[in-house]
Amino acid sequence: MNIPYLDLTIQYKALESELKPAVERVMAEGKYILGPEVEECERALAQFVGAPYALTAASGTDALLMALLARDIGPGDEVITTAFSFFATAEVIALIGAKPVLVDVCKESFNLDIEQLESKVTSKTKAIMPVSIFGQVADMDEINKVAEKHGLFVIEDAAQSFGATYKGKKSCGLSAMGATSFFPAKPLGCYGDGGAIFCQSEEDFQALQEVRNHGQPSRYYHTRLGINGRLDTMQCAILLAKLKRYPWEIEQRQRIAKVYDQSLQGFKGLMTPKIKSDRDSVYAQYSLLVENRDDFQKKLMELGVPTSIHYPKGMHEQPALKKWMSGEAFPVTEEIGEKVISLPLYADMPAAHVEHVVNSVKRVLG
Ligand SMILES: *Cc1c(COP(=O)(O)O)cnc(C)c1O
Repeated sequence: MNIPYLDLTIQYKALESELKPAVERVMAEGKYILGPEVEECERALAQFVGAPYALTAASGTDALLMALLARDIGPGDEVITTAFSFFATAEVIALIGAKPVLVDVCKESFNLDIEQLESKVTSKTKAIMPVSIFGQVADMDEINKVAEKHGLFVIEDAAQSFGATYKGKKSCGLSAMGATSFFPAKPLGCYGDGGAIFCQSEEDFQALQEVRNHGQPSRYYHTRLGINGRLDTMQCAILLAKLKRYPWEIEQRQRIAKVYDQSLQGFKGLMTPKIKSDRDSVYAQYSLLVENRDDFQKKLMELGVPTSIHYPKGMHEQPALKKWMSGEAFPVTEEIGEKVISLPLYADMPAAHVEHVVNSVKRVLG
């Protein structure tokens, strides 16, 4: 049996009767940019997260970039982030001319190692950008505490953790700002690129609104440099329909993760993901650590189980970031890069496919 890594068409079929009229309405209304569905979607997103303000963005990358621009971070500034993430996290920091300062991660959670955070703070540090990787929220309380002590601003890169909870509160609403992505393969995806930024203060919200629209507080009057970071009305209409089903989808993701957790214990050289007891995960990826990963991946593929590697290389190993790096090693990130492998997991994954993954992993590991 050959199964797909991800099949979003099952979800589309389930929502088709709501999505089609929603999209048709946008087309007939003619307000394709910042139409009424945009604000409606932002209200729904803010309510879902429990944050005072939400602003949609053209992508998760733009949401992160807008957060830095709104706080006037730039050349001469340092922003602390993790060595283990998707490239965009450190990319946006370097793109505006600030220095990405990396912290290694914990092997159990794949998230930023709080023990190493404070030693990275210098007089140039302006912000901390933790990543809630694979859908599990980072240690936000401890991170906020370090930030408060040193007068720093915290942006959670919640591109993979939208909907995850931490001590009873939701990801994206746990620090001054939180940014997420609606790239189709993320836990909550739209039908193209998309993202959102959440914030706590009116001041940040206004700055973000200006930055999203070329730095213009009023038409053709530009007080700062911004970008075109708007999300299409069409995508907002799609998100509004998909958001209603999302709590059910989170439950399904967690249910499948539990099947994997319970079925894949007790194999030598295999570690299933560890979620801390005061939070949950939306499992943007279900990532194992395994010895002889490349061989394991090849054998699973032969049994019809596709997998993926997030991420084979740390930020410090990326040529594009070389000028910011000092040659420092990030041993946990490097070890994860060699051992990590993600199994197929999505809300609408057929039970027979889940079973096939479990049986195949068991067969490969003997
Ligand atoms: C996907 C992702 C991004 C970027 O989001 P896009 O919508 O693809 O621009 C940023 N950070 C992390 C951790 C991501 O997984």
